[in-house]
Amino acid sequence: MISNFHTHTVLCDGKSSPEEVVLSAIEKGFSSLGFSGHAPTDFDQSYCLKDLDAYIAEISALKEKYKKDIQIYVGIEEDAYQWTDRSKFDYLLGSSHYLKTGDTYHQLDCGTEKLQKCLDAFSGDPLKLAEAYYSQFTAYIKERKPDIVGHFDLITKYEESETHWFLSNPDYHKLAQKYMKLAAENDVIFELNTGGIARGIRSTPYPYENLLHILKEANAKIILNSDSHHKDTIDCWFSEAKKYLKDIGFQSLYTLYNNEFQKVSIS
Ligand SMILES: [Zn+2]
Ligand SMILES: [Zn+2]
Repeated sequence: MISNFHTHTVLCDGKSSPEEVVLSAIEKGFSSLGFSGHAPTDFDQSYCLKDLDAYIAEISALKEKYKKDIQIYVGIEEDAYQWTDRSKFDYLLGSSHYLKTGDTYHQLDCGTEKLQKCLDAFSGDPLKLAEAYYSQFTAYIKERKPDIVGHFDLITKYEESETHWFLSNPDYHKLAQKYMKLAAENDVIFELNTGGIARGIRSTPYPYENLLHILKEANAKIILNSDSHHKDTIDCWFSEAKKYLKDIGFQSLYTLYNNEFQKVSIS
């Protein structure tokens, strides 16, 4: 079963139209496909859906049009700082793209210049930034219980290419693992997100392997998502990811099928 539930289109910050993505998924043999446009936030509109009702209408029309070929779901990617009405959607993907200090929402995944400004707000101490990020994201997960948790360690986005702030520091690993354990106490599904690989800035998915071992030990639920912004990358690194998860010890994954999150063995 191939599926993806983290999909962006031209309706937010993606490059392909929803229908182009659906046709690509059918061609690739997907059993289901979920769209997860960025829910609007008051503090930053730059990458968000402009009209939630138009988005729901367009994806719902595709759901009907292609129902013989593929199951389509209308999801939403919400930022932890601004909740959206989840009752309008088939599922909620909860992510954390900012860290707020004072009145400023620092973007964590829009280039290292912005990330550096965020670090400056934490006196240049990556551990303080990480503590603030993971504590607020974990509190959100506990309170909100999104169906799927997006890119848990997003602050490490540029770690391999530019920042080198976290992974070489054993104290960072201790901290991230502590919060991963806390997050895993909630009945949510964590995504293995291959988006950074498609963009050529990471060699492995979010979250990094150290945290995946924590999820495995906690018996947490995992879903494979591509965070795709283009029709051609909706299954980027999926076959590698299955082997990667098996090597860590996972035997099953979750998928959304027949309107339910279901456990399937990793083929
Ligand atoms: Zn995201
Ligand atoms: Zn996304």
